[in-house]
Amino acid sequence: MNFTNFHSNPKDASLRERAFKVVPSGMTGHLDASVLPEGYPQYFERGQGCHLWDVDGRKFIDLMCSWGPNLLGYRHPIIEQAVQRQQAIGDCLNGPTPRFVELAEQFVERSAHADWVMFQKNGTDATTVCLTIARAATGKRKILVATSAYHGADPWCTPRPAGVTAEDRAHLIYYTFNDLQSLQQAVDQAGSDLAGIMVSGFKHDMAQKLEMPTQAFANSVRDHSSKAGAALILDEVRTGYRLHKGGSWEPLGIRPDLCAWSKAIANGYALSAVTGIDSLRDAAAHIFTTGSFWAGGVAMAAAIATLEVTDQIDLVNHLELMGNHFRQGIEKQAADHGIKVNQSGPVQMPLILFDDDKDFSKGLKFCAHALSNGAYLHPKHNMFLCLAHTMDDIDLVLQATDKAFQALSQSTLR
Ligand code: PMP
Repeated sequence: MNFTNFHSNPKDASLRERAFKVVPSGMTGHLDASVLPEGYPQYFERGQGCHLWDVDGRKFIDLMCSWGPNLLGYRHPIIEQAVQRQQAIGDCLNGPTPRFVELAEQFVERSAHADWVMFQKNGTDATTVCLTIARAATGKRKILVATSAYHGADPWCTPRPAGVTAEDRAHLIYYTFNDLQSLQQAVDQAGSDLAGIMVSGFKHDMAQKLEMPTQAFANSVRDHSSKAGAALILDEVRTGYRLHKGGSWEPLGIRPDLCAWSKAIANGYALSAVTGIDSLRDAAAHIFTTGSFWAGGVAMAAAIATLEVTDQIDLVNHLELMGNHFRQGIEKQAADHGIKVNQSGPVQMPLILFDDDKDFSKGLKFCAHALSNGAYLHPKHNMFLCLAHTMDDIDLVLQATDKAFQALSQSTLR
């Protein structure tokens, strides 16, 4: 491993070097340094609002929002007060705190499809619990999942094959998101053994153009699930609260039977949830699922406070305003610099891809230049906006991207 590229970030380089000796490859999964654009820090010291400081003291306006959890701003005062109150009296105890019931009531009330809720810690916990409930309820085995959709890092869904057996995935059948024919084929293949169809809020596969679900696709997923008596499972882990508070398929008029939530629901504190409909309540009650930390009070206090804050504002509208300003700014800059970009996804969870950029060299260079001008973007993964972003922040990000476009237009890569 060569750490010499990071001499301008000496603390980051030193932490990477130390980690490399005691942690396999230095870091797991999506936080692995090998996937970061040049000059990107791996280690951060602190966050406030929409700002991040890396360990070498550089400050950035953050458009990744800790990969989604930062919904309202880092260290949002109302969330932090609720956290401190709970921390002062207890987090991990012999059983749950009253926050468990308070949050469950409030969560069910706000999630449009839900009659009940169960809590976990990570998104993978939630998606896996959804699968288990669907199978327990139907007594069937097959689960349909979209090709290359990310649902977590357990053997049934991890994107890397190492350590995974064919048996781990024996009962998954793949379809293509938004492709009715492939969905029909997968349903036919499952035959009378269909337990559930899993869908993401929208198609947000890494390094690919983002796609909103078409109305026809959403209808078809609902129809197939209902006809087969299978569960429609919506993976809201990434989309939850950012597209629509009651559920991201609400604007399509389609309600899931089970829903997996995490990331933003406790504004950065570790919590996930599965919501479901009444007819799946018994199955949910009969599976055995738990974790030492799942009932911890602090994350639940943070989640209650997150609901309180989002009840008082039109969060989605704010995110859309900021997102539209960013998208329009990028469109104009790209045109001014004569560089072709493809912007996709909902504006509050945007992705910028460059034309003729199979190896992502343009995207990586663009992000590296934006970073050196104070904006933290991502070249391959959808980005995230949060409540703490203001028009002024987005203008500052656009100043950074203008310089990044300029650098790109002067390079051989354009
Ligand atoms: N589903 C989706 C759609 C996700 O984006 C993620 C995390 N990126 C997960 C599931 C897994 O969540 P976690 O990393 O918390 O296990």
